[in-house]
Amino acid sequence: MDVRRRPVKHQSHPRSVKQHTDGELLKPHNQLKASDALPLPLYLTNGLFFTMFFSVMYFLLHRWREKIRNSVPLHVVTLSELAALVSLIASFIYLLGFFGIDFVQSIIRPSPDSWEMEDENSEQLMIDEDKPIKPCGQALIPHIMTTKPTADVAKEKKKPSPTIEHTSEEDEEIVKMVVKGSIPSYALESKLGDCKRAAAVRREALQRITGKSLSGLPLDGFDYDSILGQCCEMPVGYVQIPVGIAGPLLLNGTQFSVPMATTEGCLVASTNRGCKAIFASGGATCILLKDGMTRAPVVRFGSAKRAAELKQFLEDPMNFDTLAVVFNKSSRFGRLQSIRCAIAGKNLYIRFCCSTGDAMGMNMVSKGVQNVLDFLQTDYPDMDVMGISGNYCSDKKPAAVNWIEGRGKSVVCEAVINEEVVEKVLKTTVAALVELNMLKNLTGSAMAGALGGFNAHASNIVSAVYLATGQDPAQNIESSHCITMMEAVNDGKDLHVSVTMPSIEVGTVGGGTQLASQSACLNLLGVKGASTDEPGSNSRVLATIVAGSVLAGELSLMAALAAGQLVKSHMKYNRSTRDMTKLTSS
Ligand code: ADP
Repeated sequence: MDVRRRPVKHQSHPRSVKQHTDGELLKPHNQLKASDALPLPLYLTNGLFFTMFFSVMYFLLHRWREKIRNSVPLHVVTLSELAALVSLIASFIYLLGFFGIDFVQSIIRPSPDSWEMEDENSEQLMIDEDKPIKPCGQALIPHIMTTKPTADVAKEKKKPSPTIEHTSEEDEEIVKMVVKGSIPSYALESKLGDCKRAAAVRREALQRITGKSLSGLPLDGFDYDSILGQCCEMPVGYVQIPVGIAGPLLLNGTQFSVPMATTEGCLVASTNRGCKAIFASGGATCILLKDGMTRAPVVRFGSAKRAAELKQFLEDPMNFDTLAVVFNKSSRFGRLQSIRCAIAGKNLYIRFCCSTGDAMGMNMVSKGVQNVLDFLQTDYPDMDVMGISGNYCSDKKPAAVNWIEGRGKSVVCEAVINEEVVEKVLKTTVAALVELNMLKNLTGSAMAGALGGFNAHASNIVSAVYLATGQDPAQNIESSHCITMMEAVNDGKDLHVSVTMPSIEVGTVGGGTQLASQSACLNLLGVKGASTDEPGSNSRVLATIVAGSVLAGELSLMAALAAGQLVKSHMKYNRSTRDMTKLTSS
């Protein structure tokens, strides 16, 4: 079925049908009433029975008075009196039932906490009857009025059940086809030609298939076109992460307000405190040491000798220019910088490193690598390309090669924090910080056999800034490689603190950076998109901001740990009335 050609009806639907957000998804459930089960609208039924009740009551009282006056025995009733009596009883029962229903409704009205279970039960009824929302409401009464054994209810809950989100007739058909499997969920965008609608249909189908509500996951308020073919396949909504601001971070003479997307309490506040300490001490300096993204394919030969021959060829400086021309032809920005090879038996791992402008560069470097592999195939027909990535790159895995050689941007960031600031802002002492850094970040990490983890919590800051600015969060692994150094300077009064981070992988174009929210955060930092002055300068500044923020985070957490230790020690020694002077300076 070519759904795309059909008119897109959902655009003309009432809002209540179109909107599938959390609150609106809840509304139909909250509005369901037991009285919906009545065949007539409630006000008509009420009117009818009220009129009947009072008119037959009036008629019977009138007849009663007549009988008393004429001395007719009360138990002798005419046909009309009998009919009136039956009507009175019937309307009385109705009215009793009506107030009873109202009472029941008032006690079973779903609370936000309980709606999901009710939803599942009512949905179950809908799947059985294959009818849209109204029967669901009708079916609610037996469910409420009869007390089902708990086991039955539990069984019902387990069965897959659809939600009762409103869908247009046409979308309803498509949802059913997706549920049946006759339209693959992944093909909805291409079939419907409307990314938002595709997401809504997929979401509804998913809820019906799994019987689980997605009500907390928003659907509206997101541009689904912007992620098509770029950022995320088969979307059903988006996750919200709060963004906090740390700063101003005074770095290389410029102030930055650093956006951090996180759900970890205190992280932004702590980084903010670190920024304050850096600011009060005159700012931090960050130096870019290296800028190159890597990709390392694995190729196999019939012998180690042949693999070694290619290694020699690739590492010979005489051949570099030729290889660079081949590599560079697929991009305006990707420029080959170096090739480094490693052999394992007859397998060769070729680590290409190139500059990538403002892009993080994985696509760019991969394209260049493919060019070179195609080129080499002519002279090395016995070379088997086993994989364009052979893990010697190394992407999204802890690896010494990144720690030693660097990947992406290699930076070092430093600051001298005045003794006064250490005490007033960080609430500790220079000596305590230096000692703790040696014991924790250096010795402790060495004892743990750390790989690039010589820091307190670099990955906290890296991840939060990455999420806010549309970086690849999985690259937080190598991007968080960091050694934090602390040293007492100026006759032991001030603190020299530095973070050295060899593999910060960031970009300001491509991937998630072009999405509205992430792009706004990049804009806040003044590094949105491609740099017009000098290609690559935006992403390089972003790398320095990441390192500067890590510096702030390290300072603050280390200070908190050192201060905590001091407080504990103070208490201990206070109680034992020992001399405090030694402790405070330790
Ligand atoms: P990545 O290589 O990080 O995956 P993409 O390939 O998604 O990045 O995005 C890079 C794209 O952006 C390339 O097509 C490149 O030509 C383009 N581009 C535009 N301006 C720049 C720039 N200043 N630096 C790098 N790439 C840029």
